[in-house]
Amino acid sequence: MKKILILALAAVAAFQLNAQNIVKGSIEGVPAQGSYHPTYSSDGADYRPMNVILMIGDGTGLAQIAAGYFANNEELTYANLKYMGWVTTKSADAFTTDSAASGTAYSSGYKTYNGAVGVDVKKRPQPNIPERVIKSGIISGVVSTDDLNGATPAAFFAHQPQRGMTDEIWADLPSSVLKYFAAGSKEVFEARPLETQKAINKVFTVVNSLDDPKIQAADRVGVLPPAVETGYIVKGRQDFLPNATRQAIDFLHQRAKDGKGFFLMVEGARIDKACHGNDFPSAVKELLDFDQAIAEAIKFADEDGNTLVVISADHETGGMVVLNGDPKKGNEEGLYVSTWHTATPVPIFAYGPHAQDFMGVQGNEQVAQKILKLLLAQ
Ligand SMILES: [Zn+2]
Repeated sequence: MKKILILALAAVAAFQLNAQNIVKGSIEGVPAQGSYHPTYSSDGADYRPMNVILMIGDGTGLAQIAAGYFANNEELTYANLKYMGWVTTKSADAFTTDSAASGTAYSSGYKTYNGAVGVDVKKRPQPNIPERVIKSGIISGVVSTDDLNGATPAAFFAHQPQRGMTDEIWADLPSSVLKYFAAGSKEVFEARPLETQKAINKVFTVVNSLDDPKIQAADRVGVLPPAVETGYIVKGRQDFLPNATRQAIDFLHQRAKDGKGFFLMVEGARIDKACHGNDFPSAVKELLDFDQAIAEAIKFADEDGNTLVVISADHETGGMVVLNGDPKKGNEEGLYVSTWHTATPVPIFAYGPHAQDFMGVQGNEQVAQKILKLLLAQ
């Protein structure tokens, strides 16, 4: 009897310990923003796409997408897509990945260790998608709401053994093959060594606004707005992500050579950051903003007919759960069981020619391998 009592008390204590780690959150009155309804005319076609847009919702698992869906009166551009699957995100040295290892898997097709940016397990640089496809005349760009040196965007232009090597990551930019980038921030750029700034300015026309008229005439452009313009929506960011996505698409499309396409990576970076902070309202707003960027990519895919859009995540963050809601009023409740990433597989959606290649269960490195195969077969 005593034994049972002790066991019961231990179970109650363990439950309380776990319960302390559960953080609830809620949001009310989210205005519905609608969604883009695709034409599906190129969706699942058998011909190879000329352009590929890879969209990475950082920390965006099923619950993050569902939270946006219910808050937006049961609608999302995501949810209008037909081809979907799962992505497993384990890194080479950890069951639960970080954004650097997963970003590198997505950018190069290689699994690597947590913290690695564009290098393999032996710290050897591995070519990223932009470097692989430029040899076939395909040009590339990167858009993110993170700083440009953030692990995900960095994996598409830099090769450094640790994600925290901010100066070294920026110093890799002039030797990258990117034609266009838009990310944070003016302040972060100006805090780099002068010689790095000069080297970047030599290669790229660097501007601080998407509206700068110099962008149109330039051959290679870097847009680095003031930090508040790429920061959290709840702290004042406006439509940077959908606008930069549209601008990057137009910029690359206009400059792509006849018969050659482009590759663009777009990251919704702050879904992850909001979930690290267990900030449910911020996560919902960031997801809805990312969905508007997705709508821009799908609209272009419909106009163009030759573009594959692949949307996934580097990992889930927060062990987020959608608990309750009233979709018509834009009200919702959720909770988190962690302040870090989880190993739960993330959804993948695809639209356009060969979208069907991304159905089923696959590793994050296989997503890059499939994209490379399609682009290099042109
Ligand atoms: Zn994270």
